[in-house]
Amino acid sequence: MTTPPLDLANLERPALESALEERGHKRFHARQIFRWIYKRGVTDVAAMTDLSRELRATLAQEFTLTTPAIVARERSSDGTEKFLLRLGDGRQLESVFIPDTPSMTFCISTQVGCAMACAFCLTGRMGLVRNLTAGEITGQVRVLAGALGMLDKKFNIVLMGMGEPLHNYDETMRALRMLNDEHGFAMSPRRVTLSTVGLLPALEKMAREPIMPNLAISLHAPTDKLREALVPLNKKYGVADIIDACKRFPLSKRSRITFEYVLLAGVNDSPDDARKLAKLLSGVKSKVNLIPLNAAPGIPFERPSDEAIDRFAQVLADRGLVVSVRKSRGRDIRAACGQLIVEGQKPSPAQRLAVALR
Ligand code: SAH
Repeated sequence: MTTPPLDLANLERPALESALEERGHKRFHARQIFRWIYKRGVTDVAAMTDLSRELRATLAQEFTLTTPAIVARERSSDGTEKFLLRLGDGRQLESVFIPDTPSMTFCISTQVGCAMACAFCLTGRMGLVRNLTAGEITGQVRVLAGALGMLDKKFNIVLMGMGEPLHNYDETMRALRMLNDEHGFAMSPRRVTLSTVGLLPALEKMAREPIMPNLAISLHAPTDKLREALVPLNKKYGVADIIDACKRFPLSKRSRITFEYVLLAGVNDSPDDARKLAKLLSGVKSKVNLIPLNAAPGIPFERPSDEAIDRFAQVLADRGLVVSVRKSRGRDIRAACGQLIVEGQKPSPAQRLAVALR
């Protein structure tokens, strides 16, 4: 009986070591393979030239090395670049490079589509097509770093592309461990931010993980009534429970939880909403990131005026909160928050459900 080939791109190093050993090879080759894949951006075993020719030939029989293919690459006038990538099964997704924030940031997807159906998000319109594997999540990082000539550069990762990372918990955590591997990208978890709509059981589980990214919560409203209309999941996990979980979340001394708040004209942008938000966050080590809506056809909301945005931010700042307004990047190429969508993929049952919920 022959075992199907394992994908080198989808294995944590300990798993690769075991797989090598089971096939009669030395475990230490895993380190070499990791260096080739993550530090040198190699996508073919044949190019791993510090392995003997015979070993490379055998490995090519026993393993695959799957890398997302770049289908399209668009560059915004502000330097932001959006990559349309094709996965092994033909599914497509988008990843975004955001330069000079001042750091270099890769915005990475964790699912094709998303099941959360937030009222203002285009990706939510797709419904969930499928989860990504850890190899596909880290594959986006490999492809972007390679294409941008940044394999040996420092960059940050935000899990704020398509999908809800905590709805694909195991593969997302596996991806974080792979990115952290000292023989691969050796990414410090402090350079990674996971953004979630607040799937509480998964959030509580993450609080016990050895590798802990920075946490961002997509809050968007200070009350259940308002939040339910924007984030359907709030019917299950309400505002008070999320804030409680945040208060319990283990934070290192200097770190804070980011609360993202999409500003929608006339919906959640009044000074009264700001006062309620400030009250809600008192006692939480927080910073608030205001995201003026990135409007798009089919999204039934409008972006507030600059005055309304400033006024909202000022109310929070006056109450001692740390506030920033997210400068929208790459809007001209639809690479901004909530604008990632891949047309023409078959709708899933979750998508039909998402539409029915609305
Ligand atoms: N599912 C995760 C991560 C992906 S979305 C989450 O919800 O946090 C990343 C951020 O972009 C979220 O805060 C999301 O609410 C926000 N966003 C979605 N659509 C947007 C839009 N049209 N304009 C501005 N921000 C948007």
